[in-house]
Amino acid sequence: MSPAPAAPVAASPVVAYIALGANLGELQEAVRAAMAALDQLPETRLLKTSSLYLTAPVGLLEQPDFVNAVASVETRLPPVALLEALLALEQDQGRVRTIANAPRPLDLDILLYGDAVLQTPRLTLPHPRMHLRAFVLVPLAEIAPDLPLPGRGSVSAWLPAVANQGIRRIPC
Ligand code: ADP
Ligand code: MG
Repeated sequence: MSPAPAAPVAASPVVAYIALGANLGELQEAVRAAMAALDQLPETRLLKTSSLYLTAPVGLLEQPDFVNAVASVETRLPPVALLEALLALEQDQGRVRTIANAPRPLDLDILLYGDAVLQTPRLTLPHPRMHLRAFVLVPLAEIAPDLPLPGRGSVSAWLPAVANQGIRRIPC
């Protein structure tokens, strides 16, 4: 029997930024466990993690508040393989997809994958709504304030645009 084919890997490691969120179950534990799990993904190591933040829901308003955070990783997984690994972690945490914006025990989105710009049915990079969301920009500014958003200027330049959105850092 021939060995299973190795997962495809990028030639050189890429820094990717991941948004973490939860609003069902043990929120802080779920987000912290997901950060640790990112470090265990194949060909991937955790670089930085933001504080955890408490944020009001967006879109579907009648649901519990979220805990959100952002992490950076260095990875050799190609973008879609990274997405699949994140979706598998969501499922491990008991996530079942129902309606859009429904409460979830864990949401893991790829904000940025290096400077990749990509639009496919499965994956859009950078994440299309990241520059409009305090729950992404505030934690991201904590770990990478000068990071350029492709075609849009730096993370910190976008902070004033989301200053009216409720977000509170959870003291550690
Ligand atoms: P949302 O995160 O917008 O609340 P979901 O977590 O249910 O919604 O994700 C729905 C789909 O969005 C995923 O199955 C994935 O294929 C797609 N998707 C597109 N771009 C991204 C991205 N940058 N990060 C994560 N998922 C993405
Ligand atoms: Mg998601």
